[in-house]
Amino acid sequence: MGGNRNIVILTGAGVSAESGIDTFRDGGGLWEQHRVEDVATPEAFQRDPDLVLRFYDKRREAVQTKEPNAAHNALARLEAKWGGDVLIVTQNVDDLHERAGAKNVLHMHGELLNAWCTACDARSRWTRPMIDRPACPACSASALRPDIVWFGEMPYRMEEIYGALRQADLFVSIGTSGAVYPAAGFVRDARELGVETLELNLERSEGSSWFDETRLGPATEIVPAWVDEVLAQALESGIR
Ligand code: NAD
Repeated sequence: MGGNRNIVILTGAGVSAESGIDTFRDGGGLWEQHRVEDVATPEAFQRDPDLVLRFYDKRREAVQTKEPNAAHNALARLEAKWGGDVLIVTQNVDDLHERAGAKNVLHMHGELLNAWCTACDARSRWTRPMIDRPACPACSASALRPDIVWFGEMPYRMEEIYGALRQADLFVSIGTSGAVYPAAGFVRDARELGVETLELNLERSEGSSWFDETRLGPATEIVPAWVDEVLAQALESGIR
């Protein structure tokens, strides 16, 4: 593939697994011993805000002790060296792509290290707990919630994502189970648009048959290998 073409990369929890952040699947469908309905829905937050705030306080604290791995590093390297556009659309709420140096990262499910004020709508970077109902830095109301897209809420920046898919030559899905929509549907959208599709995953995802090609293995091995391959091909083709 020539080095001036556009790539959209969708990442999921599998990219961060080897950094020590559990996927859903690692927990047998539970997220850190909790049912998703109890901690990751607007209804759960209404019903038991303390449980939800504590859950995300723990995730926020933990993520700040983790480091990007070779897969995050390889994607940042691809973005820096590639001649065309590279957009990383991540379902992950951690900041490991950014800490690896990636610049063009779109968090469609929000970010653990952001707070969202439900009183004034401001978003602020947030590294501390929320359980004590801290004041919003913008309006001082005690109405912060994690800036996370919960199940049943609309993912962020969908128009931008579909716009990037329309301009893409290659769609790559990495470390995602293909169970959470609308992200799980991107491969079909890409195919309908005539975009080449590649899956890199530990196991085949639910929508695996939609991909032109699937490569299986741990992200820290197969992602750097794929990045080396495409950068070498681009160099050979002399288009970069
Ligand atoms: P998922 O847990 O449903 O699936 C994880 C996928 O990663 C599986 O396909 C699995 O085979 C693969 N995988 C596991 N270890 C891997 C490895 N070492 N290398 C490559 N692939 C590996 O995760 P999902 O599809 O991202 O959907 C889960 C939802 O949960 C998302 O909405 C996300 O916001 C949230 N979540 C986020 C994080 C995070 O931010 N790091 C962690 C857990 C869940």
